[in-house]
Amino acid sequence: MTRLYGKKAVDIALSILVLAGTLSLAWAGLTTTRSLPAMADASAQAENVPDEAFLVVIDAGHGGFDGGAVGTETGAVEAELNLRVAELLADELTKLGYYVVMTRSTDEALADTKDADMKRRAEIFNLPNADLVVSIHMNKFRDRSISGPMVFFMKGSDEGKALAESVMRSLCEALGRPQRHTNPEDLFVLRVPKAPSVLVECGFLSNAADERLLASPEYQKKLAEGIAAGIRDYAESAG
Ligand SMILES: [Zn+2]
Repeated sequence: MTRLYGKKAVDIALSILVLAGTLSLAWAGLTTTRSLPAMADASAQAENVPDEAFLVVIDAGHGGFDGGAVGTETGAVEAELNLRVAELLADELTKLGYYVVMTRSTDEALADTKDADMKRRAEIFNLPNADLVVSIHMNKFRDRSISGPMVFFMKGSDEGKALAESVMRSLCEALGRPQRHTNPEDLFVLRVPKAPSVLVECGFLSNAADERLLASPEYQKKLAEGIAAGIRDYAESAG
């Protein structure tokens, strides 16, 4: 399924460009936002991004056979919530003028097995022009009183830490929650990308209040706005 981001006019312009098989800088200058359709082939999409553009890879965690965590109260499935937030994040980043590529834009996994899925994700994380990778997840913990967002960065990465702190700062602001520290980790989505990367655990599906919030479109939008603002602040300070 092809999913389009951005204004109608831009989508039409991009359709024409796809037909022409080229994306010239002149065209990019004419469009008000620089969005691209998130097609199945992320690599083909990334080839159409101008050299000087800032490209964010958005990874909606899990998908298909791998549903991820399941909500304790309503049975909400993590993979589906991840995709909703990832789509809203793509909208927000597009509005801010960034290019985005999504690892998946449907509820399906990227491949039939976990290994093949991860291999494909790794290829997308390391598209030659990827400037930043953000992976969206929902948390789960045996202590059901634990709630709120967590942001992880690759252990030992100064850039990852700066990005994570920027995302956490604006995320807590957007959600109206007290500020939290970020967490160093050694996870696939943090270790594999050459570009600075963060994993955002939006909240806890094991916490009843969080589960309700995470399933609400209003809260999902706040999450997307907060993450996008953090990415913008990081990108601007990194020059
Ligand atoms: Zn997850």
